This record gives sequence, C-alpha cells and structure tokens, in this order.
Amino acid sequence: MKRIYLDYAATTPAHPDVVKTITPLFSDVFGNPSSIHACGQESRNFVEEARKNVAELINARPEEIYFTSGGTESDNWSLQGIAFANLSRGNHIITTTIEHHAIHEPLHFLQKQGFSVTFLPVDRFGMVDPDTIKKAITPKTVLISVMHSNNEVGTIQPIEEIGKIAREAGVYLHTDAVQSVGHVPIDINRLGVDLLSSSAHKFYGPKGIGVLFIRQGTKINPFIYGGAQEKSYRAGTENVPAIAGMGKAAEIALKEMDDEIRQLTFLRDKMIKGLEKIEHTRLNGHPVKRLPNNVNFSFEFVEGESICLNLDLAGICVATGSACSSESMEASHVLLAMGLPPEIARASLRLTTGKWTTEAEVDFVLEQLPKVVNRLRSISPLSRKK
Ligand SMILES: *Cc1c(COP(=O)(O)O)cnc(C)c1O
Repeated sequence: MKRIYLDYAATTPAHPDVVKTITPLFSDVFGNPSSIHACGQESRNFVEEARKNVAELINARPEEIYFTSGGTESDNWSLQGIAFANLSRGNHIITTTIEHHAIHEPLHFLQKQGFSVTFLPVDRFGMVDPDTIKKAITPKTVLISVMHSNNEVGTIQPIEEIGKIAREAGVYLHTDAVQSVGHVPIDINRLGVDLLSSSAHKFYGPKGIGVLFIRQGTKINPFIYGGAQEKSYRAGTENVPAIAGMGKAAEIALKEMDDEIRQLTFLRDKMIKGLEKIEHTRLNGHPVKRLPNNVNFSFEFVEGESICLNLDLAGICVATGSACSSESMEASHVLLAMGLPPEIARASLRLTTGKWTTEAEVDFVLEQLPKVVNRLRSISPLSRKK
C-alpha cells in the first residue's frame, strides 16, 4: 500500500541531496576533523562549511553555532548551562506550560537542584502574553525560555516582543525553534534571542544532529567535557556526516523556503476548510499565527488514538497531539494548558505536511477522515451520551 505521510512535525525524510552529501563521508572522507593531516582537514572543511550554512539560515555568525546531538540536547544544554553558570546572579527561570518535554524535564531536574521555575500559562490559542513574562521577572531571574513555535498546535509565539523585555531586564532569552528553523524565516537578531535550539531531522536533514546557537558573550557552561571540539563546550569527535547533512539541509531551506511556505499554507488552509465541515470539531492552535504545515483538530466523542489507528489502516500516517505522548493515554499537556477539557484534548489529531505532500493526498485525507470519524462516532459510547 502506498502510504501518505502527514507527520512531518515528528520527523522528515532526508532530502535526496542531503543523502548524496552524507554518503561519501562515511568512507571516502573519513578523517577526524581534529587531525592536522590532509585527511583530517578534508573532514574539517565539511564541518566548517556546514557551520556557515546553518549560521546563514538564522542570521548568526559561524562562531556562534555549536553542533549537538539534536533538539533535546540543545534544550538541555541551554537550560542547565545557563542556570549553573549564572548562579551568582540568581536562580530563577521563566518558561511556559506548553514547552516540549525537552524543556520541561530538565527544568524539573533544575527545580530539584534548588532552582525556582515559573511556568506561565497560555491563552486558548496557545499564545503566551509577553506582559505576563515582564511581570514574572524578579531580580533573581537569569533566563527566559519560550519556544518559537509549538510542535503540537503550531502556534508561533511573539518572541520578538519577549526579546525586548528580556534585553531591558538584562535576562538571557532562549527559544526552542526546532519546529521553525528551516520552515519559517528566523533571524536571531530580530528575535533578540541569546540562545536558540534547532534540529536537522525536522527540516529534511539527518536524525541525531542539531545546533545550539549561543550569542557571543553569553555566560554558559560547557555541556560535555572531554576534548577541545566545539571550543571545548561540547566535546567528542564530530559527527561529520550528520553535520554536513544538516548544513546541506540548511542550504536547501534557504533556497526553497518561500515556495514551500506558499505551497504548505495553501494545503493547510484547504485541509482546515475541509475538516471544519465535520460536525462537532474544532481547530486547535492559533488561526493565523501558526506554522504553515500544521493542522490540529479535535473531533468530539472520539479518541484521537482510534482515529489515528483507523487512518493508519487506510495508509495515512498522522499523530495524536504529539508523538511523545503517543504511548500514554494521558491528554496532551499543551492542549490542557490551552484550556481544553481532557476528553476534547484526547479527541485531537495532528496532521503536519511537508515538502512532498501533494494536493491529491490532502484530498484523499479529506475523503477518508470524515468517514472514519463518523464510523467511530456511531459506535462510541461517548457520543450516545449526548
Ligand atoms: C522534535 C523537537 C525537539 C527534540 O528534538 P530532537 O532532535 O528530536 O531531540 C525539541 N523541541 C521541539 C519543539 C521539537 O519539535
């Protein structure tokens, strides 16, 4: 069966040019970038070329780009690295209730270490009010961490405004931009962020490679000790193939982003219009300030999980809220934070498109999904109650 993949927010296939770039780096070009001989320097060139490409994608300087193992590590590093390096200034961190687990979990760890963390609420669109951030800042605040766009509902946060507030207060600002980099324009100076996380496999690069942007002059601890790689901030022999793959993905993103945004916005809006026709459904997330590739709906009286499994039988791969919560029947913390009742949160489905999604695929989903929802509703004990 031909599959229709509508889970690009979970991960993307690598671009064919990325695969082409990576392949020879496992065997033909294999030197250790730290070696001073020609074999090493050949590898070094690939690493530095990639650093330049990623820097250009977010308008940073190459010296401000640090390669990590992905978004999770970048998030962990920024929080723990800033927290422990700035203990003399304070121990307070501000974040939101809708961050990825890669932010929430390290923050829970820091709380156990004695740090104080404020989790700010969001409105029903999943948007944080910059004013609440301003009010939450105390003389002990050292870091604000707010995601650029949400991985479940696609809401894009007012980071630029938050950046101004952070600067005025002299507080570091980190943003988890894993869902945004490579998909929407990102300029670290316009946003006014000091740290930014990104991950290659979310924009057609390889898995297991990411970047932490650290603005020059930022006081942060290294994350992995043991060698001089990444200026001794992130030790370990560089994953040269993955790094080069991420660089290639960044280069492609710069070239193709505008067209992709146009195409995906068209498909997204078509899908939203089509799904809105189903009774007792609601769009989750912001109607306008949302990622071009994100559609998230709740279908009352049915479990998102059941819809997901039924679509899977029809060859359609989608997610229930978040890939990370797919193994637990707990409702998504993001949807709950937006004020959805647990049963509506559990009735949610996330459909995320990408570079290779076609209009015919969207049409097929718009034909199948109402059938699945209606069939499930006809047998659902939840809907009989209404
Ligand atoms: C995917 C994702 C991460 C984790 O990135 P990995 O590279 O998979 O570790 C972090 N934050 C957000 C918002 C994500 O979507």
